[in-house]
Amino acid sequence: MPETISSSGLAELWQSALPQLAESVGHAACDSFLRSAQVLEFDGETLLLGVANEFARDWLREKHLPAISSCLSELVEKPVRVEMQVVEHQVHQPMPQTVHTVPAKPVATGFGSVPLNPKYTFENFVVADCNRFAHAAGQQVSKSPGKSYNPFFIHSKVGLGKTHLLQAIGHAVVEHNPNLQVVYISAESFVNQLIGSMRDNRTAQFRRRYRNVDVWLVDDIQFIAAIKGPASEEEFFHTFNTLCETNKQVVIASDAPPRHLQLMNDRLRSRLEMGIVADLRCPDVETRIAILDKRAQSEGLNLPLEILTYIAEKIESNIRVLEGALLKVCAQISLTDEQPTLSAVEELIADYSTAAAPRLVSVRDIAEYVADQMDCPLEDMLGPKRNQEIVWPRQVAVYLARELTNNSLANTGDFFGGRDHSTILHGYNKVSELLETDEEVLWLINDLKSGLQT
Ligand code: ADP
Ligand code: MG
Repeated sequence: MPETISSSGLAELWQSALPQLAESVGHAACDSFLRSAQVLEFDGETLLLGVANEFARDWLREKHLPAISSCLSELVEKPVRVEMQVVEHQVHQPMPQTVHTVPAKPVATGFGSVPLNPKYTFENFVVADCNRFAHAAGQQVSKSPGKSYNPFFIHSKVGLGKTHLLQAIGHAVVEHNPNLQVVYISAESFVNQLIGSMRDNRTAQFRRRYRNVDVWLVDDIQFIAAIKGPASEEEFFHTFNTLCETNKQVVIASDAPPRHLQLMNDRLRSRLEMGIVADLRCPDVETRIAILDKRAQSEGLNLPLEILTYIAEKIESNIRVLEGALLKVCAQISLTDEQPTLSAVEELIADYSTAAAPRLVSVRDIAEYVADQMDCPLEDMLGPKRNQEIVWPRQVAVYLARELTNNSLANTGDFFGGRDHSTILHGYNKVSELLETDEEVLWLINDLKSGLQT
């Protein structure tokens, strides 16, 4: 390594460090803070990094200095000390195109806006047990935004329909009331815009932008929690509060329930929990087939059930991957103009596979949890008593045991005090029926399921 390096050499050095940096600090953070940074000086020992603003500098210093330094040290094969400096007038990165507004009212300029994905509607959303509650709540919210459930918080693992549902709410709001201003934004984009506005002294404008929003759809809020930047979390909290307090609807999607988000602001967490929290779970195989069927039809194809079933059985835990496999098959059909055989499909999607996470809850876990949550002593739940205060929690626990475990009716009956399988089935059916008609039951089951599965 020479003692001084030309500026193009420095840029090259930084470029070659970025992939590794993205691995160690996370891609989102790398895109927000590091990609736009530049190496100002490097004397072989100390490297001076120019970053966009004070926020980026403080955040990187506090959180990622060791990672950045070890990454660079590895690259130049000797220890590198990293220092940071805010550089004014940096070349602007283009704003990511992630603000979506429905063009009812013109959008403030300078915040690139694109419409919602037209495919992400309620009509295209297949409703099943895994998402019934979130779907129902989402529809309610879209009918009376700001009035029913505020905020509405949706969480799930990746690829299970959060973004779809969020945008479906947006579409439906505008359908019911074209004058409402709907903004869909990813938390990452929110942070990027915030940083941009801080850099350009436009924070007042940034805040003003949200004054006219009627429905704010924020996707992947875990990003705000993950970056641990006090400024972005505070700004989010500020916008969130302003909107909630003026009865504007806020809908949030996240990869974890509020209590698992690494937020620094406890008030934010408790406000997130104050609204309604719904999760999306992995669809069962019938639902996966229904989703595939709907999707194939929207591509103008009628695939034989045998093929849909094969794909649905192979890919269990991520609808996006499921659709990816289907699209591959569709592409093949449009290329060859004929239906592929099952074995051709097997070959085509041989690389796709996502096994569902093993079910970890046991009947005992369920019984203990339900007993605790519904204030029913466990020994009564498992005992002979038949008064309503005991029977109802028992039926709920039985329902959840059937839903969340693979135990047979007979085994479940044995566990719940040696009851026979018809009693178990009766309890299960009772709860299933109420779920269709009674919103409170829907809430109860939803909460219990979320609690058990996280
Ligand atoms: P997430 O945001 O949770 O990662 P997405 O909303 O991006 O998931 O969903 C992944 C894909 O699966 C999208 O193409 C979406 O349309 C589709 N999808 C998810 N849930 C459903 C559903 N219930 N019915 C139909 N398609 C769905
Ligand atoms: Mg998403």
